[in-house]
Amino acid sequence: MTSHLSQTKPAATVASREEISWQQEMKQAIRSSGGLCEFLKIPPAAIDVEENDFPVFVPRSFAARMNPGDPADPLLLQVIAQAQESLPIDGYEKDPNGEATAVLAAGVLRKYSSRALMITSGACAVHCRYCFRRHYPYSDSPSGLEQWRHSLEAIAQDTNIEEVILSGGDPLVMSDQSIGQLLSALADISHVKHVRFHTRTPVIIASRITPTLLLYLKSTRLKVWFVIHSNHANELDGEVLTSLAKLQQIGIPVLNQAVLLRRVNDSEDALYGLCKRLIDAQITPYYLHQLDEVAGAAHFYVSPDRGRELIAAIRKRLPGYAVPRYVKEIAGEQSKTVLA
Ligand SMILES: *Cc1c(COP(=O)(O)O)cnc(C)c1O
Ligand code: SF4
Repeated sequence: MTSHLSQTKPAATVASREEISWQQEMKQAIRSSGGLCEFLKIPPAAIDVEENDFPVFVPRSFAARMNPGDPADPLLLQVIAQAQESLPIDGYEKDPNGEATAVLAAGVLRKYSSRALMITSGACAVHCRYCFRRHYPYSDSPSGLEQWRHSLEAIAQDTNIEEVILSGGDPLVMSDQSIGQLLSALADISHVKHVRFHTRTPVIIASRITPTLLLYLKSTRLKVWFVIHSNHANELDGEVLTSLAKLQQIGIPVLNQAVLLRRVNDSEDALYGLCKRLIDAQITPYYLHQLDEVAGAAHFYVSPDRGRELIAAIRKRLPGYAVPRYVKEIAGEQSKTVLA
């Protein structure tokens, strides 16, 4: 991931992206705030950009869904590095969820009953500035069948675990072949019934849902669930929804989790728009997460009172199944805590 390919390419050339594989999309991602501003024809002075130790990483097909010339675009604000990230803010920490204390084995978190979360890959298809994993020691986490041996052994020994959540980073940054191997290793553990993918990749790079991946997902004995991560309706264009429909067509339930983010989706219309776009595609809005108070993300903060107000407002306009549970992660609790 060292190439800095033509960051000056105009948005128009993205039209030919059907021919680009998802791996190529990763290689050609925009890797600087300056590159993003150039791509969107935004004068850099319009945003107080400043790079820091969490590098910018944005595939062009995602950037192409942003409004050119708009420094307040809700997709752009999620991914552009700004000077305010470097301000130290009281209460914002590097490991806000105390994950370092929930480790079952290297690369496996076991916080909640019957579920284990496997960190399958340190990489993601996009870098989200609000991410609570931005300071996670990914280099310590295994990514490859040999390195997963300890995680798989730990899961095999704990017969309480019925569901394995593949997270990261993002599990869909792994090759189809690695995913196939991991699924078959998990299917060999008799008490594991469900495998859940927590992934933002199909929302960022639609072509990630490949025929080979679909074949692996279809042929495992495990019940497969997908929880995608989208925060705004503008992320969900026709191409993304068409890819997600391929999962639905083979019987995989697709749910969404979002994070409540200031200036991105903290309005009734933005939140309603997201949930409406999701249910129109038969995707269930599962969780709306209260922001994790991670160092560098304070500018995304929305108060729980405001969050409850927004949930109450959209509840008046949507069917019950379209209203996500508004939750917060509190270290040491036995489940996520429901705020509304
Ligand atoms: C959120 C989370 C889960 C899944 O919780 P659900 O409420 O079942 O979606 C599992 N393990 C960890 C470590 C988590 O953070
Ligand atoms: S895709 Fe998910 S894990 Fe990766 S940076 Fe974004 S929020 Fe974090």
